[in-house]
Amino acid sequence: MIIVENLTKKYDKTIALNNVSMKIPIGKITVVLGPSGSGKTTLLRIIAGLEKPDTGRIIVDGEDILSKPPWERGVSMVFQTPSLFPHMTVYDNIAFGLEARTMSKKEIKEKVRWAANLLHIDHLLEKYPEQLSGGEQQRVALARALVVEPKILLLDEPLSNLDLALREELRYELKSIQRRTGITFIHVTHDQDEALELADYLVVLYKGMKVEEGPPRRVYEYPETIEAAKVFGHNIIRAYCSDKEITYPWSKGLVETNCTLIIPQHKIIVSGKDNCVIIDKIYRRNYGLLIIKCKETILRTVVLLRELDNYVIGEKIGIKMIDPKIMRK
Ligand code: ADP
Repeated sequence: MIIVENLTKKYDKTIALNNVSMKIPIGKITVVLGPSGSGKTTLLRIIAGLEKPDTGRIIVDGEDILSKPPWERGVSMVFQTPSLFPHMTVYDNIAFGLEARTMSKKEIKEKVRWAANLLHIDHLLEKYPEQLSGGEQQRVALARALVVEPKILLLDEPLSNLDLALREELRYELKSIQRRTGITFIHVTHDQDEALELADYLVVLYKGMKVEEGPPRRVYEYPETIEAAKVFGHNIIRAYCSDKEITYPWSKGLVETNCTLIIPQHKIIVSGKDNCVIIDKIYRRNYGLLIIKCKETILRTVVLLRELDNYVIGEKIGIKMIDPKIMRK
């Protein structure tokens, strides 16, 4: 485990990180998910040694790495925009990280070839950055970060600037590279799809605070905090929960509320006709979204895209909730 303990970082009045603690598994992909401004980059910059926290510790192999200079931390970082040296070939860009080490030319060549092979850029080694596409440049930046065989690879939204198809392709490759190298990846993103696809372990940041961590599916479907549910865009409903049943705000007989239900969009099922109404339908890539009003409560649920035409705005419907997360208070 990499143990992050009570990290706080303030910039004047902005609290970028507020007493953040987490346990990051070794040899796995940890994804830190959070909206823009939630403190993701600050966290990575502190781990990399580019920034000092006001308080806190980061324990790797039993040692607090915060007292070490960046180059002794065994950490490499890849940024959103690949910062390659324009006057150097791809080969020299990748080899750059190795130059400071005492290594023979032959060893350097072997390592560069290994990294280039890992990123499928063997054929680009003699080219210059300006001759490459955005995706190829990011592959070079990844190869340069990996060539030094870091203990920890920090990935700061490295796919955000790429178009969708390329982003999905590289996402898949990142996972396979991690599996082949066994390096600990800490990947930050605001993209939920990317987070859920990549993560072996998921951490959610919200306004500088850690609001969830755990296995991605558990964190996504049963978040422990309202803040994490908000990050995912889940339905959040105040209701009355007794030991036997849940009374929803739109059902008859609700007098008071004593619990909050958190329910992801895919766990609300439209069923029969009842006291809810479809107020809008949205066409998305791969799925349809129904906006439903049950008395005063607005709910969102996903349906198969090929069935979206079966639903009519204004139509009365009933809904069923599958296994909502119940918070009693
Ligand atoms: P994220 O990566 O999640 O978008 P950041 O870590 O970049 O979030 O920023 C967290 C908060 O800290 C933001 O409110 C941001 O404006 C602020 N911040 C980050 N870096 C600086 C800085 N160098 N000076 C002042 N404020 C900063």
